[in-house]
Amino acid sequence: MKTNSVKVLWSAFYAFYQFAPARQTIVLFLMLAQGLSAGVGLLFILPLLQIVGIDMGGTYQGVAATATWFFETFDLKLKLPHLLVIYVVIVAIIASSRFFLAINTTILRQRYVNYLRNDMYRQLLHSSWPFIVNNKISDFIHCLAGQVQAIGLASYLMLNLLSQVILSLIMAGLAFLLSWQISLIAIGFAFVLFCLLLPLNRVILGSGQHQLLNFKAVFQILTEQLSSLKMIKSYASEAYHADKLAEVSDLLEVQQVRLTKMNAITQWVYIVGAAISFSGFFYISQVLLDVTLPTILLLLIICSRLLPQLMNIHKTYQQLLHQVPAFEDVHKMKKEFAKVQEAPVGKASIPMLEREIKLANVTFGYPGKDSPVFCDFSLEIPKNQTIALVGPSGAGKSTLADLIAGLLAPEQGGVYCDDQLLDNEYRLAWRSRVAYVTQEVYLLHDTVRANLTWVRPGIGEEILWQVLKMAAADTFVANLPQGLDTVVGDKGVRLSGGERQRLALARALLAQPQLLILDEATSAVDSDNEQKIIEAIKSLRGKLTIIIIAHRKSTLAHVDRCVNLEECCERAGEQMLRESV
Ligand code: ADP
Repeated sequence: MKTNSVKVLWSAFYAFYQFAPARQTIVLFLMLAQGLSAGVGLLFILPLLQIVGIDMGGTYQGVAATATWFFETFDLKLKLPHLLVIYVVIVAIIASSRFFLAINTTILRQRYVNYLRNDMYRQLLHSSWPFIVNNKISDFIHCLAGQVQAIGLASYLMLNLLSQVILSLIMAGLAFLLSWQISLIAIGFAFVLFCLLLPLNRVILGSGQHQLLNFKAVFQILTEQLSSLKMIKSYASEAYHADKLAEVSDLLEVQQVRLTKMNAITQWVYIVGAAISFSGFFYISQVLLDVTLPTILLLLIICSRLLPQLMNIHKTYQQLLHQVPAFEDVHKMKKEFAKVQEAPVGKASIPMLEREIKLANVTFGYPGKDSPVFCDFSLEIPKNQTIALVGPSGAGKSTLADLIAGLLAPEQGGVYCDDQLLDNEYRLAWRSRVAYVTQEVYLLHDTVRANLTWVRPGIGEEILWQVLKMAAADTFVANLPQGLDTVVGDKGVRLSGGERQRLALARALLAQPQLLILDEATSAVDSDNEQKIIEAIKSLRGKLTIIIIAHRKSTLAHVDRCVNLEECCERAGEQMLRESV
């Protein structure tokens, strides 16, 4: 798809401006003031020194004469100390404007980055589950960690570009007042230089696209590898995995060098072009247009300031072009987030399970799959029953648990809590009644206490020990070096698999759920730990509704009912067949 860079940059700038219009305007004015005041301090002091009789060699006669006229007209008698004070005041005003500019630009940039990151992360968390699992987590991390930072910088660059363009227009206006013919020729030269460099823009845009893909690859490699370091080390495949990252890093290096080359070529063309245009100026003004030498000199002074300005504008534009793919990527992600936002709970009351959870004629399939996982599937789970979902791998046990938990929405039919259909805002509301324990336990690199209490902040220690006891985790936590305040390590690496599972079970119980889902929670633990978890489940039986997905007979021995999904699916299939016949 062809990218309209100017349109992308304009809409990005508009979004940035809309974020804080007042502060943007202040910053823009400060940037302009800074640009206009460059060198003003020196320009002022020299003629003023002339007024008090210090001969500066006649260079500033004109300005000095004007200043003298000004002071004489208003009968102001100035001596050297007064002049020096004026000089200091002027420089102090300029320095203050720089100070405010530096602070305001940082505030603007950082607030925008914060806003983008926080807003997008919130949207990501509120996105539907199928969207989340169908995307790469590394892409989300790359976007939230790197892209938004780059976009903050690029947005500020756009404001800077605007101020540079305004300053250049002012200088060009001055040049026009002095000699419109020469100014037109100068603009013609600048236009030719710009056109000469146009092919570079396409290369820079392409380089930005490659950089985006390569950075995404780096994030993907790092996310995948760092979460599987044990596997990498156990296969002694450190070198292979390090090489994978090195390959992409090499590409990024090439990319950066190429971008710098483009910038350097631009500078070269401008400098050599400037030398050619200066010579052309001189010749045309003197020989053909008969412009006086002082005017030519003044024009040259203006052009010598204008040219670096134009060079800067072009450089900033190239930097922005390089960021266009990043802008597009973030914009696309924001649009996707907006499409998949879950309905907020709003005024929906949280459903209270009194009788049963019911699936009525549910049909559900994953996008891109030929056949649905469930077709016209119905099931009733009475309150406080413990049921097991069994069947071969791929039969749909986890999918069914996700449907019941309100993570997935059926395409047809409905999931009910008593008579309440769990759709839209009720699906999200229902999730606060559900606790899910999966084989892979989510543990923060923090204390046992912190890992428990985020589900119920501010809860007392007594209740923590109660749930730990219910999950058969009290003994091992009590034996940890700092008890509840022991740090468990990354993903709980300092605990055994069984201990992690029991901690996850304790946390699930702390949330006081009405429905507890244990998805393969006992499959990766040894028989001793499994026995402990089974004991915990047995003690919970009849107190809340429990759905267990497990293979081991020992785990299934203590449930009220087994639902064999293979049989259910076969029955549903036969029924469909009968109906279609
Ligand atoms: P089980 O838990 O019984 O092993 P699952 O519910 O995980 O089975 O999967 C049921 C079917 O749905 C399988 O064919 C699986 O490949 C497919 N499936 C599961 N998750 C996804 C997904 N996110 N996208 C596409 N297909 C999926």
